Amino acid sequence: MSPPPEDPTSAPADPAPPAKREARAAGRLYVVATPIGNLEDITYRAVRILSSVELIAAEDTRAAQVLLGRYGITTKVLSYFEGNEAARAEELTARLRAGAAIAVISEAGTPGISDPGERLVKAAIAAGVPVEVVPGPSAAITALVGSGLPGERFLFLGFPPREAGPRQEGFARLRGEIATLILYESPRRTGTTLADLAATLGEARPACVARELTKVHEEYVRGTLGELAARYAEEAPRGEVVIVVAGAAPEAAAAPVDLEAEVRARLARGERPREIAAALALLTGQPRRKIYQLALALSPER
Ligand code: SAM
Repeated sequence: MSPPPEDPTSAPADPAPPAKREARAAGRLYVVATPIGNLEDITYRAVRILSSVELIAAEDTRAAQVLLGRYGITTKVLSYFEGNEAARAEELTARLRAGAAIAVISEAGTPGISDPGERLVKAAIAAGVPVEVVPGPSAAITALVGSGLPGERFLFLGFPPREAGPRQEGFARLRGEIATLILYESPRRTGTTLADLAATLGEARPACVARELTKVHEEYVRGTLGELAARYAEEAPRGEVVIVVAGAAPEAAAAPVDLEAEVRARLARGERPREIAAALALLTGQPRRKIYQLALALSPER
C-alpha cells in the first residue's frame, strides 16, 4: 500500500499547505507508533512520515524491514536500541540540529513505552528540535480496553522487578491504589507475578491476562487474581502478555485489615503461623515477626 495523498477536508493537526509543510519537515523528530502484531495497524500518516523522512532510527532493524517492505517504504534505517541508545542519541541529535527529519520506531507499539525513545526525545527537546508524535498502537491501552476493567483511571507499571523482594514490596505498596493497574510481563514469569499480585492485593481482585493482542491467537482471559494465578501456575501462556488488574474498591482502600481477625480465620483454615506471617506481611505491610508472634499467641496448639 502506498500512502494516500493528504485529505484536504480532514482537520490535520498541522494546517499548513503541503508545500510549506515539506519545507518545515527539516530538523524534526517524529516518534512513530507501529503495529504490535497485525501489520495493518498503522496510520496513513505514519506511512507518509516514514516514507518522507531522511532516516528511520529503529530498535529492531529486521522487524522494521518487514514493516517497511509491506508498505513499500525505502527510507534508510539505522539501529537504535538499548545497547547503543546513549551514543546514537547524541549522533541523531547532531543530525536533527543540522536540519534532518528523523523518525524513531521501536520493535512494536509506541516508542518510549517500555522501549527506547525517551532519551532521544529528551535530547531533541534540549536541543530545541521540534518533536512530533505520530500516535498508534500500544499493548497497554489495547489490553486495558479489551479487559473490560475501568479505564477512567489507570496506572501503567511497565515490567515489574524480576527479584521477588522488590516485586512483592512494590505490589504491596499498591494495595490501596484505586486506579486499574497495567503490567507487561514475559510469559515465563506471568504465573509468578500473578501469584505475587494475588498474595499482595488479594485473591478476589478482578483481573485479565491479555495475550497475543491483534494477532491470530489473540485472547483475553478474565477472572480473579486467584483464578488466574492458579491457571498459569503450571503452564506459561504462549506469546506476549499484558496483565490488567482492577484497582482497590474505594471502601476497601480506606479500610485497614483487621489483623487479629485475619490471623484467627487463617488458623481456623489450618494455615501454620509461619505461612500466615509471610502472607499477611505482604497483605498488610506489617512486620512479619510481629504477625508471627500474634499467630503463635492465638494458635490453639500452644
Ligand atoms: N512499546 C510497546 C508498546 O507500546 O506496547 C511495548 C514494548 S515492551 C518491550 C514489550 C511488551 O509489551 C511485551 O513483553 C508484552 O508485555 C507487551 N506486548 C507487546 N505486544 C503485545 C501483544 N501483541 N500482545 C500482548 N502483549 C504485548
